[in-house]
Amino acid sequence: MEIFYPKYYKQFSCIASACPDSCCKEWDVDVDALAAAFYRKLPGDLGDRLRQVLQDTDNGTVMTIENGRCPMWQQDGLCRIQAELGHDALCQVCREFPRLRHDYGNFVELGLELSCPEAARLILSDADYTWETESVSDSAEVEYDRETMDTLRRTRSAICDFLSTTSLSVPQILAIALLYAYDVQEELDGGAVADLAPERYLSDMAKFPLAGDIESLLAFFMDLEILTPGWKVRLQSPPCVPVWHPGYKALLRYFIDRYWLQAVSDYDIVCRAKFILSACILIGYLGGDLAETAQIFSKEIENDADNVEAILDSAYSARALTDLNLLSLLLG
Ligand code: SF4
Repeated sequence: MEIFYPKYYKQFSCIASACPDSCCKEWDVDVDALAAAFYRKLPGDLGDRLRQVLQDTDNGTVMTIENGRCPMWQQDGLCRIQAELGHDALCQVCREFPRLRHDYGNFVELGLELSCPEAARLILSDADYTWETESVSDSAEVEYDRETMDTLRRTRSAICDFLSTTSLSVPQILAIALLYAYDVQEELDGGAVADLAPERYLSDMAKFPLAGDIESLLAFFMDLEILTPGWKVRLQSPPCVPVWHPGYKALLRYFIDRYWLQAVSDYDIVCRAKFILSACILIGYLGGDLAETAQIFSKEIENDADNVEAILDSAYSARALTDLNLLSLLLG
């Protein structure tokens, strides 16, 4: 079996006390059953403290936050469990974050989550990375349609190659990604083989000269689950005129690499393309430092499965997510 990972994957190292946000802030940490049992049996002060803060919920055990932070977080920015017992004693989420693993049975893709500031810095510093590969002897059963996966892998490579070589503007590239997704959808639905045709898409785009409705997009995101008051304030603030600098190509590459193949589960690539476009547009209009805004977006949206699901489910019904609105926000 092949394991693929972006070139930056192995460059990641947690910056701990220098982290401007920290994965220990604002959210309850899910503690796996093995770690929870280990923590509850620990002797001494650390064990007493863990027994106090571990809480069983309907969805498993969590470390409840106190004053907005994980109770194991120390003033020096380091984790008390890691400091006293070492990295291997961390629960699974903390050992792995921000590393992502998508296991497709006969191949695996690894990545980093944008919701970690240091990972965001690495992700946004390179739009043109190549996948590194390693071979391992294990392999698992393939539970998806192989032909669909072949189409998704081929078309993802096509859009990423285009992204690396084109001199078109970021809004045009984003719009092309959506229009190409419709051609890929047609292929997935049994139609013609998708052909990435930028000239044809550019001519189609001439039909979208209207001004987009950013207020509806902000209102749509306001209706999702909100983790931090700071995010609410950002969504309520007057949006900026986006400056689409080349960092957005790296952002688009990240979203495409992370979500494109997931259409193998339901054969719907268009809803994922709309998710990707709405994410890039929102981040662009919120402005500020790209890495910081993208990281907060990811923490609020990507790390909340209900929010991701809500966007995918609304892709064909929400006014904010119509093709007309998304393309007009980019091109109008
Ligand atoms: S968010 Fe990333 S850099 Fe910050 S403490 Fe967590 S793993 Fe380390």
